[in-house]
Parts: sequence; C-alpha cells; structure tokens
Amino acid sequence: MIKNADIHFNHLGTPVANNFDDVYFSNDDGLAESNYVFYQQNDIPRRLQNHDRSHFVIAETGFGTGLNFLNTWLQFKTHLANRQHDENKVQNQQNVNRLYFISFEKYPIKKSDLATALQAWPELALLSKQLLQNYPINLAGCHRLEFDNGCVVLDLYFGDVQESINNMAYNQLGLIDAWYLDGFAPSKNPDMWQQSLFQRMVDISRNNATLATFTAAGFVRRGLIAAGFEVQKAKGYGRKREMLTGKLAQANSTHSAPPYFANQASQLTNVAVIGGGIASSAALYSLAKRGIKSQLFCQDSQLAMGASHNVQGAVYPHLQAKNSPHSEFFAHSFLYAKRLYQQLTTNGYSFDHQWCGVLQHAVKQPLAERHLNIETKQLWPNALMHSVTPEQADEIAGVESGYAGVYFPLAGWVNPPQLVNALFEQARALSDIQSHFNCDIDTLEKTPNGWILKSEQAQFGPFSDVIICAGEHSDRFTQTKALPIVGVRGQVSHVQASEASKKLKTVLCHKGYFTPAYLGKHCMGATFEKNSKSREVTEQDNVKNRDQLLNFYGHCEFATSLGEINSAKAAVRCSFIDHLPMAGEWAEQTDYVTAFANLRLGKRYQYQPLQQPQQGLHILTGFGARGLCSAPLAAEHLIAHLNNEPSPLSERVSQAIHPARFLVRDLIRNKI
Ligand code: SAM
Repeated sequence: MIKNADIHFNHLGTPVANNFDDVYFSNDDGLAESNYVFYQQNDIPRRLQNHDRSHFVIAETGFGTGLNFLNTWLQFKTHLANRQHDENKVQNQQNVNRLYFISFEKYPIKKSDLATALQAWPELALLSKQLLQNYPINLAGCHRLEFDNGCVVLDLYFGDVQESINNMAYNQLGLIDAWYLDGFAPSKNPDMWQQSLFQRMVDISRNNATLATFTAAGFVRRGLIAAGFEVQKAKGYGRKREMLTGKLAQANSTHSAPPYFANQASQLTNVAVIGGGIASSAALYSLAKRGIKSQLFCQDSQLAMGASHNVQGAVYPHLQAKNSPHSEFFAHSFLYAKRLYQQLTTNGYSFDHQWCGVLQHAVKQPLAERHLNIETKQLWPNALMHSVTPEQADEIAGVESGYAGVYFPLAGWVNPPQLVNALFEQARALSDIQSHFNCDIDTLEKTPNGWILKSEQAQFGPFSDVIICAGEHSDRFTQTKALPIVGVRGQVSHVQASEASKKLKTVLCHKGYFTPAYLGKHCMGATFEKNSKSREVTEQDNVKNRDQLLNFYGHCEFATSLGEINSAKAAVRCSFIDHLPMAGEWAEQTDYVTAFANLRLGKRYQYQPLQQPQQGLHILTGFGARGLCSAPLAAEHLIAHLNNEPSPLSERVSQAIHPARFLVRDLIRNKI
C-alpha cells in the first residue's frame, strides 16, 4: 500500500518531510534553484534544440511537490514557443516537440498539502492547477498523465524508486536522456542513494545521458562513477558551494524483456488502422498526438457498430484478489481512460456519461468471500475500490437490495458510440486522418515499399505499418489466421424504467450489469454465449436478461416494477483465453518456432534472431467487454514502444498482453 508523506510547513512556508527531517526545496528560492540545478546543469535548453529524436526523456528520483516537473514544463513551453528552424543544425539533429518526465515517488504528498505547497509559485499557477486536477490516487505503479494535448507526458511512478525502476520496460537503446537526482540529502535518506540505483540508472539510460544533483556527497560521486558516469563538481546554487553533474558516454545494451517478448520500434511514417471501435479510436488518438499520419479502414458505414455499440457501457476496472499483472493492467488502464475521457469533455467533445460509481453486489456467497479477501489484503486504495455493508450499498444505490458488495467510486457509464466518435474527432483535430467507411479490407500484402491493403473494389497504400483492431474479425487475414480469438456473443436489453427503478443512482453489477435510467430506459445484460458470431437480436436473450436480473433482485421493487423491453443490441466480443487483450507486433508462428526452438529444452537465451517476415504488422484487440476501460492505455503502450518512447506499462504487464504469449507458452510446454 502506498502511504502519503507526513509533512508540515516551516515558518517560511517551505514544506518539510517529518520522517526525513528535510525540506522539499530550498528555503531561499526553490524555483530558481530547481531551474539552475536540474534544468540548466543538465544543459537541457541547448539539447532541446539539437536532439537525435523529436522527444526528450527526463527521469527524476523524488517527485515531491512536483516543482522540478512544473519548472521543466514551463521552460519546455518557452522552448516550443521560441522554436526556430536553425539553418546550422547538425545533420540528423532536430528540435524536440514532446517532453517525457518520469518521476518516482515513494510517499506521495496528499493533494491538499500539494495545493498548499504550490501556492508559493504564482508563475506556475496555470500548470499547477492542471497537475492538481490530474494528481493520481495512491495506487502503486505508473500513472501516465498527459498535458498540452500529449506534448508533455508525466509518468508518475508511485512506489520505491528502486522497485519501480526494476519493473520498467526498456529496450537495448535505453530510455533516459537526463536525470534529476533529488530525493532528500543523502545523509537523511541513505536508503535511496544506493549503488544498485546508480547501476540501474545506467541500464535504462541512453548514450550521452546526463545527470545533475544538488548534492556533492563523496559516496554519491564515487557510486555514480563506479556505475559508469563521468562525474564533475559544479558550482552549487546560491550559497551552496558545490553540486554534481555527470554524463554517460556509452550506454550499455541491457534490456528488460527476454528476446521472445522484446518490443522493437517500427517506422510509423504512415499507418493504416483497421477497425472502427474503441481500440481503433484509441490507436488513432495515440498516433495523432505524436503527429503520425494515419488512415482508418472500417467495414461499417460509421464508427462503433461492433462491440462498442451499446447504449450505456460500464467503465470500471476488473481487479483480482492479488497483485497480478492482470489487476495492475486494469487498475491503471481504468485511471488512464478516466483521465482521457474527462480531458475530452474539457476539450469540448461531448458524449453522454455519468461518473456515478459502480457497485458490485455480492449476490452469491463465493462473491462475498472474494470481496472480503480483496478487502483484507488491502491491495487497492479505497479511492479505487472499497467494500460496503448492505446498508452502505443501499444508500449508494438509492434502491434497496440488502446485498453487501464493493464500490468503485470513480467509475460510471458512458455512451460508447458517442465516446468512440468523440475520441476520433479529438484525434482528427490533432492530425490529418483519412477515413474509409464501408471499406471491407480482406487482404494484406507486404511489398518492398510497405503494406498494401486490398478490398474487393480497391487497394490502398503502401503503409509503413498496419494496426489490426478489428475485434472478432481480426483473424480474417492470411497472416493472422492463427490468432486464438475467443468470440463471445452478448446481448444487452433496453428496458423501460419505472418510478422505483429511476431512483437507482449507480451502475449495479451482479453477474451482469444494470445501469441507472438514461432516456427513460435501463441497459440490462449481458448474455455470454461462446462460439456464436451472430449479431441478431433474439427475444430469447431478452428473456434471459430479465430472468437473470430477477434471479438476484426478485425481492426488489426496482427490478420487479420494470416495464417492457422494446429494443436490444447484440455483438460479438473478442477476447483471449486469459481474459487479457493483445497489443504488440504480430508474432508469426513459424518464425517463433525456428528462432526459439530451444525454449522446448528450457533454454531461454539460446535462440536465432527472428526474421520478422510480417514486420510492421501489429495487433490491438481482444478487449472483450472491457474495451472502454482498457483500450486507451493498451493503445498508448503499443504506439509508445513502436515509436521508441517509454511505455506506461511495466515489463510484466507488457509481457502479459504480448501477442507472442500463447506461442511462447506452447513452446515451453513442447506443444508446437
Ligand atoms: N523533486 C521534488 C520537487 O520538485 O518538489 C522534491 C523532492 S524531495 C527533496 C525528495 C522526494 O523523494 C520526497 O518526495 C520523498 O518522498 C522522495 N523519496 C525519498 N526516498 C524515496 C525512494 N526510496 N523512492 C522514491 N521516492 C523517494
């Protein structure tokens, strides 16, 4: 569990950490010191104008009040405003247009304390306000916060820096361009300034990464040198005599993933996205933020005609009673999706929704035990999920049922088609996206110039990359026939609300779900029928949905008083057997079997290089009934790693949703 910082403000108004007995920033002029020590001494102003790629990555040990982040963001805005096209630019060097700021924090400051601390900097007020609006709840792991339409990305890791850094995903090129070593005086916080941390910093740094720190402590200097940095003393800020700066001339080639789960960069110069639901919109949005050209190919006449077409879809995380990759993925996906959807409304894109919470009723004994198990283990912060007594549950719901349960206060429902369209419109506002509707792509062909897409009538391309987000249809291409999709048909019925049912204030989950009244109706469902690809609405399934509701709520007026079912929607949800989606480069069976044949003998690191005959082909699908919650972060992960940027997902989650996972499992078990 993440614990908040215990702080007080000293007589000068500077925040002080009680457990470290140290200030968060200098009593003199914290902002000027931050700018001098970290921003200037890492030579960032010059490097932003002459960098070997269009994004720059800073990592910081100790987020604290976010002062370093806010100052860097402010300076970066000035850089963007003053950007010039310099004739004398060194070849292959460019102006940076996106900033990544990765920060690690073991004891996050409470939001109310943060607001007080940041009042000291009126010049940062506009940025502080946005930080406060997006400041995460106390959940361990990476919270990806995006500002200025994704030009500034803050990856805020809650947890011990050493543990967080060990969990990160990175490839052999490394991730970090500059380090801000903050984290209280080494004498007051020796646990953080460890050799193992310096070593890990080297592992995830790029060539020519720099560092700056306010301290000149001898063991820090020696430790950084031993890890591989060249370190110098520099003049400290103000009255402070010395500080340290450093540079890593040569990065090492370590990487976090075994070779069969490596995520390599791709060209991403011109991308085709096949689909039309939430995954496609999320992929287009992640591409558009980066200014990457894309085209959408949708077999239907408009967006969201497949599994994203319900009238009300619940948005909440699926959490297990253990800290599994599954739970980590869904918890962070949910929080990311919620921030994104709120940002859409702030940007003026509207979609019907209600952040009214989701109440999962313990309608059967095993469920009650599961809820109790989750509660006792204290795995999740209360702000994400907490258990409620029958009385509390009835109070939250506004209708009586007498069931206890767990409540997700930040969750709610959205109208999926409107949301998918809003996200698509937001993507189009950021980058030019050509869209092809009623365009049924049935063939993908790789040529020396790139990928060609063919429908019966026409062909398109070449494209550097293709992303398949086509749900149940994702296995229709020759290349992807082996995709082990599990198609599950589901029907949701729309039932006329009654006076009693209109009192429902939250989304109810039992075996299925039941939403608060919207336009005089409730969504009630859904059925789960494996091995059926029919989108036909059936009367039989409407009866099933009502029976299922009455089975659990037959004693409740809100359920017995409901009116007619006069419409319904059916779709096929695409999922995989482990209930996780797939996001990554397509893994071809013959290529994997040849390259990693030794996995059958338990030899993980004796392999041949992959030939990647389908390079540039990627998969983003398998979200089942949970795409509203999980597609945006999975898309962001896919596009970030294809573009050689830090992923918001940990290495273990990245592996859990990797397209090669079933092949690797079968090879290890000697099944293929
Ligand atoms: N950079 C901050 C700012 O701009 O306000 C100030 C950082 S403050 C001097 C040091 C921070 O490091 C504190 O917030 C503290 O909780 C955090 N910290 C200390 N030990 C840590 C550890 N082992 N892992 C992660 N964060 C740590």
